[in-house]
Amino acid sequence: MPTTYSIQDIQSLFADHVTTAEKIKKSSAKERIKKLESIVEYIKNPKNENRLMEAMQVDLGRHTVEVLISEIGVIINVVKYIKRNLKGWMQDERVSTSLSLLGASSYILKEPKGSALIIAPWNYPFQLAIVPLCYAIAAGNTAVIKPSEYSSATSAFITQMINDLFDPKEINVVEGAVEETQMLLKQPWNHIYFTGSPAVGKIIMTAAAQHLSSVTLELGGKSPCIIDSSIKMSSVAKKLVWGKYLNNGQTCIAPDYALVPNSEKPKLIAELQKQVKSQLDPNGNGAQNNDDYGHIISDRHHKRCVELLTDALDKGATLITGGDYNTESRYFSPTILDNVTDEMKIMQEEIFGPILPIVAYDNKEEVKSIIASKPKPLALYIQSKNQKSINYFLENTTAGGTVINDFMIHYANPHLPFGGVNNSGIGKSHGYYGFQEFTNERSVMRQRFGATALLHPPFSKRTEKLARILGNWLS
Ligand code: NAD
Repeated sequence: MPTTYSIQDIQSLFADHVTTAEKIKKSSAKERIKKLESIVEYIKNPKNENRLMEAMQVDLGRHTVEVLISEIGVIINVVKYIKRNLKGWMQDERVSTSLSLLGASSYILKEPKGSALIIAPWNYPFQLAIVPLCYAIAAGNTAVIKPSEYSSATSAFITQMINDLFDPKEINVVEGAVEETQMLLKQPWNHIYFTGSPAVGKIIMTAAAQHLSSVTLELGGKSPCIIDSSIKMSSVAKKLVWGKYLNNGQTCIAPDYALVPNSEKPKLIAELQKQVKSQLDPNGNGAQNNDDYGHIISDRHHKRCVELLTDALDKGATLITGGDYNTESRYFSPTILDNVTDEMKIMQEEIFGPILPIVAYDNKEEVKSIIASKPKPLALYIQSKNQKSINYFLENTTAGGTVINDFMIHYANPHLPFGGVNNSGIGKSHGYYGFQEFTNERSVMRQRFGATALLHPPFSKRTEKLARILGNWLS
C-alpha cells in the first residue's frame, strides 16, 4: 500500500478485505492460532524486540521493563489465553428451547463479523493495536489497523511487522491521522474497534451509524480513587504512586484524582511524597535523570499538561510535589496538587499526565456526589479495609471496572470483561468478551415436530384457547 492514500486506495483495500473475509470465515481454530503464533514468534525474536524497544524509547521514553510488562507480555498472554480457549469459543453453543416451542432445538452459531477496522491510540501504542487484532483474528475476521500518528516510531514497527507476516488483503495497516481515518470510516466495516478519547469516540460512532457498523468504543475519562480511613496510608501511597505515574500517567485506567478523608490527608500527602522519591527519584538526581521515568508523547500533550497545572495554580491549588517540566525533552515531573476545586480544568477533564490532585472529604455522601457530578468513569478504585464502606461505594457509584485495594490489575484478568460505561466506553473486551466483539452470535432454531401450525389462521375458538394456554403458562 502507498504511504499516502486516496479514497480510491482505501476503497480498493476495503473491497479486497471483503473478498478475503468471505474466504476465511470458515477457517479452523488451528489456522487462526497459527496466525496468532506468528505474531508472538515475531515479537519474541530478539532483533524485532530490540527494534520495538527503540521505537518505544523514541515515542514515550519507556524503560525496557515497562515495555516487556505492559506491551509485549500483554500480547503473549492474550495469545496464550486464546490458544487455550478458542476451540471451545468457536463451537456452536446449544441452548434450551422454551416449552411453548416444544419440538424445536436451538443453538448459537459463532460466525465472524467479516471485515474489521481497528483504530488505536498512542499511549500503549503496540498492544492497543495488536490485542484487538488478536481477537479479530481469533474470531475469523480480516482487519485494517490505523495506529496513532503521535506514536509514529511504533506505528512504523507495526506496519513492518504486519507486512512481514500477513497478506495485505487480509491484515493491513494504514498509517495516518484524521484525514486517513475519515477515509477509512467512509467504508461499511462490519465492526469498528476504537480505542481513544470520548470526543473522538463520538466522531467514530457517528461515522459507524452511516453504515450501521457495530462498534466497540474503549474510551477514557476521570477514574477516581476513593480512600477511607480504615486503610494504612503508607500502603495506599505505595500503590497509588505506581498506578498514577506509570507511563507518565498516560494510562486510560490510571487513577485520575484521589479522594481522602480530611483527617487522613496530611498522612497521605507525607506518604505520597516519600513514595515519589523512593520510586521515581531513588538516586536523588531528579526524575528527569531517572531512566525508569519516561516523557510525555508530544509537544501538544505536554502543553496541555502545563496548561492544566498553570490553570490549577492560578485558581488557588497548592503545589505539594513536582511542578517542573521541560518543553524540549517533554519531561513533566511527578506532581501532586492539594486544594483543587471544580472550577479548575484539572477537575473537569481527564488528566492523562503525571499530575495527581488530592480532594479531601468529610463524609461518604460527599464522595458519592463528587463522582456522580462527572461522567461515568472507566475505572474506579476503592482503598478500604471496611466491608460496609466498600459496599457503600460500590452501590452508590458506577464504573466500567473497579479494583479494591490495588490499581489497574483488573486489566490483566481475561476472565473479567474490560471496558467502560457510556462516556467511558461501549462494549467490552478481553478473553471471551474480546472474541465476542468480533463475532456475530447467530441464533439458529431447527424445527422438528413443533405444533406452531395449530396457531396458523383461520383462527377459531380452539386456536384462541391454545394461544391463551401458550401465552400464560408455557415459556
Ligand atoms: P484520540 O481519541 O485523540 O485518538 C485515537 C485515534 O483516533 C488515533 O488513531 C487518531 O488518529 C484518531 N483520531 C483522532 N482524531 C480523529 C478524528 N477527528 N477523526 C477520526 N479519527 C481521529 O486518543 P489518544 O489521544 O490517542 O488517546 C488518549 C485517549 O484514549 C484517552 O482518553 C484515554 O483514556 C483513551 N484510552 C482508552 C483506553 C481503553 O482501553 N479504554 C486505552 C488507551 C487510551
